[in-house]
Amino acid sequence: MIVPVPVHCIACGIQLRNEIPPGEDRTRGVCPDCGTIHYRNPKIVVGTIIEEAGRVLLCRRAIEPAEGLWTPPAGFLEMGESMEAGAVRETMEEACAEVAIVRTFARIDLTRIGQVHELFLARLESSDVAAGVESHEVRWFSWDEIPWHELAFPVVEWVLRLRAEDLASGQERIHRGCLHWNEVGPPLSLENYDLGDLQSLRLAPSPAADEHNGE
Ligand SMILES: [Zn+2]
Repeated sequence: MIVPVPVHCIACGIQLRNEIPPGEDRTRGVCPDCGTIHYRNPKIVVGTIIEEAGRVLLCRRAIEPAEGLWTPPAGFLEMGESMEAGAVRETMEEACAEVAIVRTFARIDLTRIGQVHELFLARLESSDVAAGVESHEVRWFSWDEIPWHELAFPVVEWVLRLRAEDLASGQERIHRGCLHWNEVGPPLSLENYDLGDLQSLRLAPSPAADEHNGE
C-alpha cells in the first residue's frame, strides 16, 4: 500500500490545497480554512523470521495485496507500540504463534511506496502455530524449499535471500538497505531494483545467541 496523498483536512474535512508552506521545500496538503499542514510520511512495517529445526515459518496471505502469496508474519506498527511489540503482535495475529524476539535482522527502506520494514529474528514460544484471520495457511519451509516464485513482495524475497545466505555461510549479520526501483519493469520483481547500498554488519560470535532455551 502506497502511503496515500491526503485530500481532505483531518480537522475540518474540507478539500486541501497543495502548496509549499513557508520555510518548507515541498508541496503539502494545506487546509485553506484552519491552516493545518498535512504531512505525508512513510509507514513502519514490522515482522518476524521464525526459525525452528532448520525451517522458517511463512504465511500465505488471505488479504490483498498479494493474496495467496507467502510472507513472514508482518504488518503495520500501531501507535503506542515498540517495534518489537508490534512484530510479536503481528506474528500472533497472522500465525497464531507466540514468539520472543531474538534480535533485529534487517531494516529495509521501500522508498517507492513509503514504507520502512524492520524484520526481527524470533524464537517460537508456543507449541503450535495456525493460520490467523489474515492468512490462508501457515507452513514451515526448509530453506531449500522456499517458494521463491510465490513470495508476496520484493522485500520478502530480499530478506529471505539474505537470511539464507547467512545460514549457508555460517554468519550472523544485520542488514540495512534500500529497495531503489529502477523504474524499468514491474515493481513487484526484485530484479528490477538496485540493491547496491546494502550494508551487512557481521556480529561477533556469541554462545548466548545460539541458546534456544529462553531466559
Ligand atoms: Zn482544516
